[in-house]
Amino acid sequence: MNIPACTGTYIEEVIASLTELYTDVENATHAFASRYGIACPPGCGSCCEHFIPDITHSEAAYIAAYLLFELKDEEMIERVYRHSGAGCPLYRADTPFHCSVYPARPLICRLYASSAYHDKYGKALFRSCKYEETNTMPKHLSFDERVVTMQDFAYRLRSLDRDRGRLSLLSELLPKLLEQLQFIAALVPAQDGPEEPLAG
Ligand code: SF4
Repeated sequence: MNIPACTGTYIEEVIASLTELYTDVENATHAFASRYGIACPPGCGSCCEHFIPDITHSEAAYIAAYLLFELKDEEMIERVYRHSGAGCPLYRADTPFHCSVYPARPLICRLYASSAYHDKYGKALFRSCKYEETNTMPKHLSFDERVVTMQDFAYRLRSLDRDRGRLSLLSELLPKLLEQLQFIAALVPAQDGPEEPLAG
């Protein structure tokens, strides 16, 4: 994501760091899911209908930048501001994968049902998504070999923020970041074209 409105601001750094992290997550989860025969049922979006993710400040900034400057979806931005209820405000039944910010979705949404987790004894395990009823993934796996786990990427994500990656509900944090980015964008000079040469 290249956002001229954020050039030279801390948001530019956030976007670069998260793009790198999310690329590594995509590669790792894709390899894990292929190796162990894990897939979500086609067209399913049940997890997003019943769930609001906890996200970090950086992740909220990333989604806000995507909504404001890439997608430019006024209707969705309004929905985020007006949201109430138990489901994710970014869920939309008529979009691919049912997520209106799919390329900018937060870490938990990338890892859920696509990675293992460590139990309290440090053992890597996988459990199927509780909404999955069509056997497109194994119910339970236990690993002796090294596999990608949620914790691997959670530590990396949380190290990006000064507040050690404190988590807040997406529905509470995202409106604040939308406002903050709109404010920052209003201060940064427009960079649409080459500067006019100075006369004289
Ligand atoms: S951000 Fe997207 S993928 Fe994550 S819960 Fe919301 S709609 Fe689902």
